[in-house]
Amino acid sequence: MKKLDVLIIGGGPIGIACGIEAEKKQLSYVIIEKGCIVNSLYNYPQGMTFFSTSDKLEIDGIPFISNNVKPVKAEALEYYRRISSSKNLNINLFEEVIEIKNKLDAFQIKTSKTSYTAKNVVIATGFYDIPNTMNIPGEELPNVSHYYKDPHFYAHQKVIIVGASNSAVDAALEIYRKGGDVTMVIREEGIGKRVKYWVRPDIVNRIEEGNIKVHYNSEVKEIKKDEVLIVTKEGALSIKNDYVLALTGYMPNFDFLEKIGIEISKDKKRLPQYDTQTMETNVKGVYLAGVVCGGLETHKWFIENSRIHAPIIMNSIKTKI
Ligand SMILES: Cc1cc2nc3c(=O)[nH]c(=O)nc-3n(C[C@H](O)[C@H](O)[C@H](O)COP(=O)(O)OP(=O)(O)OC[C@H]3O[C@@H](n4cnc5c(N)ncnc54)[C@H](O)[C@@H]3O)c2cc1C
Repeated sequence: MKKLDVLIIGGGPIGIACGIEAEKKQLSYVIIEKGCIVNSLYNYPQGMTFFSTSDKLEIDGIPFISNNVKPVKAEALEYYRRISSSKNLNINLFEEVIEIKNKLDAFQIKTSKTSYTAKNVVIATGFYDIPNTMNIPGEELPNVSHYYKDPHFYAHQKVIIVGASNSAVDAALEIYRKGGDVTMVIREEGIGKRVKYWVRPDIVNRIEEGNIKVHYNSEVKEIKKDEVLIVTKEGALSIKNDYVLALTGYMPNFDFLEKIGIEISKDKKRLPQYDTQTMETNVKGVYLAGVVCGGLETHKWFIENSRIHAPIIMNSIKTKI
């Protein structure tokens, strides 16, 4: 079996950027992606608008032409897909990396389809695959989801939205506008501080006028088939309900990182260990790229400030080969 210079796990924007850099440095490489191209972006809500302007989402300086200052999901899919085809990147889709074994002079990488040998591995697996669960009874019911796709489905339905971040606020506004009866359950005393500044007045006004109901300082305690129990400052409350969207954030696959031997900080940030000069982890030859670097600080890295990981990593690998 051919020994690759580098195997890149994840075909998101940053995995693609790593592939482009590997190509430029004439390193043999393959990108392994468990879903479609830019799988996380594909699974974002249908009508999602990025908070970043299109220039900040560009990779390798390739212009991202968008109709508006902030592009929508469809434009981003088009952009990254066109890049992967025009650059003719070596990317294997719908193939999941299952296991990485550290042999003496190379890594054995087992996937859902085959296995590979590579001198170096880049982990660009993002954080969108694993939701932060509430760990309450009823969370596994079919009317509960941690992912929001589209508002039409919720028309004329009673929907509880758990969370106060951008995802929760966007879902609340969209569903309300398609005729859903929305109640937000928020642990804190207000809408999240990082909510997009141009969206904040919209949600605040809808709440003030009573069109979107909200319970601050409250937590969902149990979900039943058509009822949700919450605990508020004033006491326990039962709300009649059809659907629950628990938009409580996501986290990187720590098990996957730990199995490879990557050390994770013991504090609540759970930061994976890596050298910021090279992006190499404590496991020699294994690099981290993109938003996976932030551990539970999922707001720290985004495309704009992590696309630089690609040239940093490939420079480091090139000097070793
Ligand atoms: C709703 C939402 C809106 C956002 N808006 C913005 C924005 O406006 N601007 C911005 O910069 N960022 C935004 N982000 C953050 C955004 O997710 C990241 O910036 C971007 O996707 C990071 O790219 P990445 O390549 O690091 O990770 P991802 O895009 O998450 O890519 C990781 C890829 O790895 C694949 N993968 C995971 N495990 C495996 C495995 N074992 N084997 C094979 N493949 C695997 C996944 O399928 C995925 O395609 C947003 C995030 C969310 C959730």
